[in-house]
Amino acid sequence: MGTDEEADGGFGVETSLTRLGRNPRAYSGFVNTPIVRGSTVLFPDAETLESRDVEYTYGRPSNPTTRALETALAALEGGARTFLTPSGLSAIAVTLLTFAESGGHMLIADSVYQPTRRFAARVLKRLGVEVEYYDPLIGSRIAAQIRQNTKLVLTESPGSQTFEIQDIPAICRAARGAGVPVAIDNTWGTPLYFRAFAHGVNISIQSATKYIVGHADALLGAVTCDEPAAAAVASTHEALGLCANSEDCFLALRGLRTLAVRMERHWRSGLAMAEWLASRPEVAKVLHPALPVAPGHELWKRDFRGAAGLFSIILKPYPKKAVHRMLNALQIFGMGYSWGGFESLIVPFDCTAARTATVWKPEGPALRLHIGLEDVDDLKRDLERGFAALAGNGTV
Ligand SMILES: *Cc1c(COP(=O)(O)O)cnc(C)c1O
Repeated sequence: MGTDEEADGGFGVETSLTRLGRNPRAYSGFVNTPIVRGSTVLFPDAETLESRDVEYTYGRPSNPTTRALETALAALEGGARTFLTPSGLSAIAVTLLTFAESGGHMLIADSVYQPTRRFAARVLKRLGVEVEYYDPLIGSRIAAQIRQNTKLVLTESPGSQTFEIQDIPAICRAARGAGVPVAIDNTWGTPLYFRAFAHGVNISIQSATKYIVGHADALLGAVTCDEPAAAAVASTHEALGLCANSEDCFLALRGLRTLAVRMERHWRSGLAMAEWLASRPEVAKVLHPALPVAPGHELWKRDFRGAAGLFSIILKPYPKKAVHRMLNALQIFGMGYSWGGFESLIVPFDCTAARTATVWKPEGPALRLHIGLEDVDDLKRDLERGFAALAGNGTV
């Protein structure tokens, strides 16, 4: 557990999670920063209206609730500034747009979250940006892909659905040598388990929708930057008029208070389920970076301080009908997108068509699992029910 990191004022991370983004004395002693709703902010006099020398000028840039979350996330990630957006995807979009220019070149990991690819195809392309996808396992060899006109390297570790662990320090060293900023989609690692800035990253993106909110009841994104990147992202973020809803920020602040204990349980239960699944005859492969036999394990051990509850499995070659029988037999695992909440989820996926720089060719159907906060023995029994249905009629 990453409890020894100093996130604010010399406190350990777990203490900081209980303190960041709160100032009870400013709110008559009430423990939590209240939900401030509002657009108009009144100025006390004409001189101040002209100088704008006040903490808040208008609801969109920030209000006491959204600022509390911004400062808490910046401190937790170890960055200079955090920008909030209405979703994780819009956090990725504002980051890419910040560095987009006609004739520019961007490097994006082939294992990236698929809607990121859609943004590149629909928007970056139209703006005249040349997007090049690279093998997520490229490591220091990325130096050869960086060009004179490369504006940004986007990483995501582990990769969405397929869980490749990237050698982020090696990629950052190569990019820094060429003066190119590196961004990471750090949603899986969270600020607790992957210290993006300590590893050399310039921009850390969170879909706060996942573990930070943690209860599947809000959508929210965050872009945390070092000083130079903050100046660039601030300009685009402001120009686009992006802002986050105060009630959702309140839920994210509330989620932070329990983030460390929730993550530890997701990690332990997820690993226990991954180990159990690896021993099942129906399962060909388990893609969980914390499993010693899984690809990327050594890098995970070197760079991460823990593991999320999200991983994938490859089944033996069963037909689709059998997989549907398995999914339909489950009583605890829900079928649905997103993850990071308290409940366990399972979804089939096939990213064969999405890859352009690498080949994804699993030996059987692939399933992504999110292990929630339920009793692990209940989860095993639920999957046993599923496996019984899988092996029913129609086994190959
Ligand atoms: C879910 C997700 C996003 C998008 O987040 P939203 O808040 O749903 O827009 C981005 N990146 C990763 C890795 C995700 O899993």
